[in-house]
Amino acid sequence: MLKPRKLCGSCGVEKPLDLFYRKSSSKDGRQPHCRQCQSTRIAAHHKSDKGRAAQKRYRESPKGHARDARYNNSEKGRARIKRYQRTEKGKRAQKRYAASEKGRKAQRLGGVRRYAEAKEKVPKILDLYRLEEPETHREKQLLMKELERRKREVRHDG
Ligand SMILES: [Zn+2]
Repeated sequence: MLKPRKLCGSCGVEKPLDLFYRKSSSKDGRQPHCRQCQSTRIAAHHKSDKGRAAQKRYRESPKGHARDARYNNSEKGRARIKRYQRTEKGKRAQKRYAASEKGRKAQRLGGVRRYAEAKEKVPKILDLYRLEEPETHREKQLLMKELERRKREVRHDG
């Protein structure tokens, strides 16, 4: 059986249909340009002013930010950030960020959040100490064990 072929609208070469990417909205279900031309066109588009503007719009959109956040949280993204932070440029950027209003605010908020979390967890343990005053060495040991157990629970909860 002869494989269906199609004329590429870009390079004008007739190629087998499977060398064209799919496009469900087109009549024959394929892109008008062959794969090779398509990648060249996409690369050229990304380099053009129009393409760059579109990339910038995407990066600054909620969708783009969400993608960045996902990437930065991934193993690959975290490794990349670490590598960057070790470079001279990365070190300078970190210093600039720490000195900026945004960086100082983040630091304050981080401190407040850690303090609130610690405050929420620690009294549970300290209260127990205050409420149950152990008299004997054995009681103390049991209480320490119980405290350790609760600490572990707290860690698992949080
Ligand atoms: Zn082509």
